[in-house]
Amino acid sequence: MRKYVIMGVQGSGKGTQAELLCKDLNLVHISVGDIFRWHVQRHTKLGAQVRRTMNAGELVGDDMVESVVRDRLEQHDWNFGFVIDGFPRNGRQAEFFMESYDIDGVIHLELPDDEVRRRVLSRRLCPGCGMDYNVIADRPEVEGRCDICGTELITRADDTPEALAARLRDYHEKTRPVLELFGRKEVVHDVDARPSADEVQASIRAALGLPAYAPVA
Ligand code: AMP
Repeated sequence: MRKYVIMGVQGSGKGTQAELLCKDLNLVHISVGDIFRWHVQRHTKLGAQVRRTMNAGELVGDDMVESVVRDRLEQHDWNFGFVIDGFPRNGRQAEFFMESYDIDGVIHLELPDDEVRRRVLSRRLCPGCGMDYNVIADRPEVEGRCDICGTELITRADDTPEALAARLRDYHEKTRPVLELFGRKEVVHDVDARPSADEVQASIRAALGLPAYAPVA
């Protein structure tokens, strides 16, 4: 059983790296942001409660986040373990998490703020199938359309300069205590998020003492 946390500022590639880490190791990727986005897109009661907060780039209240995480982990579909991304985001969430689960490793993806701005403001999302694009590095074949399902691409409502500034401020202020708390247990691995996705994945695996990435056939 392997239980990992992946942390990093917006646009540092948390989601991509978590997916790569899960694939051949049979781990389950749990993204708290994706769970909230799922609710917003489907207009659930929870979605209505978090939509404005998310669009402003602010953090959802701890009680709600903790109950979403608890419910998700209680599904027990993670026999081989999980990689949780986007949680914990502050000291209280970290304490809640460490009380309930033993963590095998924390990956902290590091990316300078100006690179974050460049990446995030060029990010596009397919609302149909969830595929991510980047108008600089990973353009769709037909401008503005998803390569997989043809749906018109959108910009995430929280990928605006204003929301990004709020998220960066929050990240630096609130996430530092999380790293300090985890750091006391000596499980934090700092990884440079600037190289290509494959290179970053290789560094993560080396830091965690895992075998190199082996794509499943
Ligand atoms: P993400 O995809 O991780 O950037 O999350 C998108 C948005 O979901 C964040 O800007 C927050 O509004 C909310 N969110 C996700 N995870 C958390 C968390 N651990 N604590 C509070 N809010 C969160």
